[in-house]
Amino acid sequence: MIQNVVVKTNCDSPNLVDQDLVKRLFRKPSTGTKTTRGAHLTKPTTTNILENNRENFFIFSISCQSDDSKLCGKVIETIQEAGNILSSVLVLKTPIFVNLSIYDFCADDPLCNGDYAFDPVFYLKGYAQPTLLYLLRDDDGVERLYPQSLAKQFNSSFNPGINSPDIYGEFNLALNYWFKNDPPIENNQYDFLGLVLHEMCHGLGFQTSWSTWSPDDSPQYITPMLMTVEDYEYLWEDNYDPNKQVTWIGFREYIFDKYLVFTKSGQYVSNKTAALNEFFNNGDVIKGSYYDFQQKFISSPQYAIAKEMMNISTQPQTLGLVNWNLTSYHNTSTQGPFNISDLFVVDTTSSVFDPYNSINHVDYTIYTNTSDFLMRFQILPGETVKGDIKLGGKFPKGQLTGAIGPKLRRFFETIG
Ligand SMILES: [Zn+2]
Repeated sequence: MIQNVVVKTNCDSPNLVDQDLVKRLFRKPSTGTKTTRGAHLTKPTTTNILENNRENFFIFSISCQSDDSKLCGKVIETIQEAGNILSSVLVLKTPIFVNLSIYDFCADDPLCNGDYAFDPVFYLKGYAQPTLLYLLRDDDGVERLYPQSLAKQFNSSFNPGINSPDIYGEFNLALNYWFKNDPPIENNQYDFLGLVLHEMCHGLGFQTSWSTWSPDDSPQYITPMLMTVEDYEYLWEDNYDPNKQVTWIGFREYIFDKYLVFTKSGQYVSNKTAALNEFFNNGDVIKGSYYDFQQKFISSPQYAIAKEMMNISTQPQTLGLVNWNLTSYHNTSTQGPFNISDLFVVDTTSSVFDPYNSINHVDYTIYTNTSDFLMRFQILPGETVKGDIKLGGKFPKGQLTGAIGPKLRRFFETIG
């Protein structure tokens, strides 16, 4: 279903490596989304291409699949507003193309009824993610995966165009959403603007590669993305075949992970990735199935690192993001622990590693009632972006650009 795409570019900085190796990212999708993919296709469809203007760098292609044209109108207007907010906060050189599908994930899906209706996996609000990742060599000599939206900003001559969108996302119309000009929000309504802004930030690169890539039910270790030569999407396909024979080339971080540090030791998490990659440095090409790889890996000295990373990622306030300003004066090799207040602390509060939430969000307790509320793992029903901006204080009241808080802005400045 997902196809390999190889784009030839002459991206200057950072450089494309390995014959312009291009990867399409496909994070393990939720079962709920997956099982209903076919069901919505027969529904009436409204597709809108929203052209950009001078103020908006985001060009959306929106498919709103509902008979309720008023609802679709509000959905489209809100998405456009999210694009305006992000455009005014981020420094962008080239437009970002976004494909969004909005439909009822539960239409014709019996799993959505009864008990399953309140299971968060089946009652997903939505998601957005980069459609393509590019393997680029960074200024520290390490290869990392960049979302297309970001890779494009480095070189204006590199333009994959409107037919190769940067971000893809889906939102679930089964939920009761609240929109700007509606009566005051009720306790069972979700602010659609908050959802779109949050998901767009994931699509722009707020996401970690550290995950449980193993097909086992409860893997005991996490690693950055494991790459193969033959089939780039291998690990991202739903129900991939762990018996397929491939060639394993190493663990690769996303750009997000470059700025991840241990709060207590003050060290970069990237050092762990380098140590993990020593598994591949013994001269042997590692060929075989995922299970073959796993068997070798588990009996290697590097396995302890991957287990330790899972352990650390399931204890609160252990990991955070540094920004460019902080790295310029904090020497990680000599200065020891970070002040929590200097970091953007990521969510490691779940005692069981959750590939959707752990590290991919910011600490819920620390950032509730602050200007950096947006990337917490949830915005509760009854909660609005406008209300949260007010609670956060410092940022200009009444202006929705305040949804992208100071630490989140610093994050995007740092990766871009
Ligand atoms: Zn999220």
